[in-house]
Amino acid sequence: MTKGRAKKRSRNSEAPCILRFCNNREGVTARVLWVDFSGKEKEYARLDELCYYNQDTYVNHPWRLRDAASGDLLAEYVGPTATITLQHDGSTHIEPGLHRPPLVEVSDPRWGTYRQRGEALGIPILAFDCVCQEAVETAAHIVLSMLADADGSIVESMVEAGAEVAIIGCNQVTTDLPMYRHLRGVDCENGGGDYDKATRGLGGNPGNPVTSCGEENLLMLPEDRYRYENILIHEFGHAVMDLGLHDKPLQESIVDAYQAAHASGRYDLSCYMMENESEYWAEGTQAWFDATVREDVTSGVNTRHKLQERDPKLAELMTLVYGDGDWRYPQTAPHKFAPCEESSERQHGQQAESSRSGAGAAMQRPMVQVVAAQHGKAAAAAVAAASWLQCHGA
Ligand SMILES: [Zn+2]
Repeated sequence: MTKGRAKKRSRNSEAPCILRFCNNREGVTARVLWVDFSGKEKEYARLDELCYYNQDTYVNHPWRLRDAASGDLLAEYVGPTATITLQHDGSTHIEPGLHRPPLVEVSDPRWGTYRQRGEALGIPILAFDCVCQEAVETAAHIVLSMLADADGSIVESMVEAGAEVAIIGCNQVTTDLPMYRHLRGVDCENGGGDYDKATRGLGGNPGNPVTSCGEENLLMLPEDRYRYENILIHEFGHAVMDLGLHDKPLQESIVDAYQAAHASGRYDLSCYMMENESEYWAEGTQAWFDATVREDVTSGVNTRHKLQERDPKLAELMTLVYGDGDWRYPQTAPHKFAPCEESSERQHGQQAESSRSGAGAAMQRPMVQVVAAQHGKAAAAAVAAASWLQCHGA
């Protein structure tokens, strides 16, 4: 005999799946809720308007989306991998498999429209109109060069996970990007202040697959707080590990290599690279492509050659993931790195993602003066040398 309907709740399950929640509903922030084993809702994320969110779960685990303001139920799902979209017209669309949500273009009178501006191997490059096309092309070139010799299944996994690259305009802050809006005013864990004070780039991960980087870093402008390194290569390195190697044995191998490196005595354990396996991989990725001249954060491992000598195990993993091709960042960079001696003058104290910034001070907008000249790709180096860039529509 049963008393009413059985309560919906999660059951033990061995079958994993991924749910992608997309919020294309204007003015609505949704709470992403797991219905636990006792039937209680537990919040896993806040899904801001125009954001999407990937959740690893199991096929027998129910999930709900509720309006954060009213508490109204917007969607409920239990089952295999699917994309659950709150649509613009108020309906909810559920489709088996993972799908890229249609890009809803966001406009702002200060910066123009946020839209896809480029693409590399199926990975879209997004930016507002205020970002120079040279920065977009540079980002696409870097992604393409990093993955030129990578195993196809890694790229495939990244595309499937919804990997994107978004550029933070020189006169914008991190949370001006739609996918990072929900981080506005949120403190980073590492004492560097909120995300806008502490970051000009974040790595993509399954929860938020957007990798970001500042326009000024791509163009190597003197105002760049990270002028001794390329940040996209670091952040995209995180995305390669977290999206491209997700659930692959290579991800475990990185953890093993990190632990071995940590115990080896070959690194200064206080350096940023030794903080955890993620930074070990991301800093290692920068070294693999000679994309940094900093020595403080990596115990001096800032080139592929040095990495191969210092840490053959990590070099082997880099080769398995990226290949051992010829491209190095400085070959096609728009400008030379600032001499690394200068880097000791910077505030390197805290080197967590939040304060990799080094130059600590908050990015105030506008940080770069706007000049009028239109410039083509060929002139990028000259423009960087001239130390100004054009921000269309800014
Ligand atoms: Zn990092």
